Amino acid sequence: MTLSEFDLIDRYFRRSGAVRSDVCVGVGDDAALLECPPGMTLVAAVDTLVDGVHFPRGCRPDSVGHRALAVNLSDLAAMGAQPAWALLALTLPAAQAEWLDGFAAAFSALALQHGVTLVGGDTTQGPLAVAVTLLGWVPAGCALRRSGAAPGDALFVSGTPGDAAAGLALEQGRLTAEGDCDSLRERFLFPAPRVALGARLRGYASACIDVSDGLLADALKLARASGCGVELEAARLPLSAPLRALGSERARSFALTGGDDYELCFTVPVQRLERLEADLPSAHWGYTRIGTIRVETGAHVRDESGVKTVAAPGYDHFAGP
Ligand code: ADP
Ligand code: MG
Repeated sequence: MTLSEFDLIDRYFRRSGAVRSDVCVGVGDDAALLECPPGMTLVAAVDTLVDGVHFPRGCRPDSVGHRALAVNLSDLAAMGAQPAWALLALTLPAAQAEWLDGFAAAFSALALQHGVTLVGGDTTQGPLAVAVTLLGWVPAGCALRRSGAAPGDALFVSGTPGDAAAGLALEQGRLTAEGDCDSLRERFLFPAPRVALGARLRGYASACIDVSDGLLADALKLARASGCGVELEAARLPLSAPLRALGSERARSFALTGGDDYELCFTVPVQRLERLEADLPSAHWGYTRIGTIRVETGAHVRDESGVKTVAAPGYDHFAGP
């Protein structure tokens, strides 16, 4: 079934996600009117997912709907922010109800889970692309930044990096494996952004970034923004059992350079480590120390054979062959 633009917006996007009293005007007028609480700084992020670039062509619509919001929730989490309002710019080849049912239900479910409401957007016809703008807030002066790390700070990552990249490789048929492939696929298709952890890290973390381009690449971005370098210890990487089942070399490589994890990578000064563990137990919050911020610039990985410097880790949309 195909729908008109008006019917499509009315059916799928007029009410999506949480109901919030700070939305004075939402979907339906020329722009949304929103109330930011006093004393808070507005935080804004936008991320686009393009068919065949950020997800495999023909990817299931519920995954596209989930990820379109999840990647932005992850950006706000990395700032220690509380998400509130989303805008959705949707470019669709056709207004197919079957596709939109799955997309809109998954988007709305994740929005509801994080107390986010959809307050506007744009709907156009063209090659499939989804851009979500997410707005939220953080107490003034308390946002987490990439630039706050100092040499000696401990480096942490949440969750089990590498699973999503392995899951994508499985989805695309680039990797075949026995064992628990479904849980790896799930980690690519339905990432769980660490919004609660990001907010709790305010006052503990000296710097934070979310892992979208690969752990090593994003840790290096954090280190560069802080004017430092970073050393990761390969043996400390928290590898999930399904990832380890792919073989230890491959598991390590996915964890260090695979993307799409949407975990948080953050630093904590050593004098705050005890307080961190007491107030935010790592066993409960699911984060692991994986390295240290160094004076020497660049990304360095320590493994059984010594320390290697990694030149240009991570994904670059405009990099040549
Ligand atoms: P305009 O032409 O003034 O930009 P539209 O007719 O495009 O308005 O949109 C009508 C209303 O529907 C607006 O409030 C807009 O924010 C909302 N809207 C349009 N597309 C979407 C979408 N994909 N998701 C959420 N809201 C949308
Ligand atoms: Mg208008």
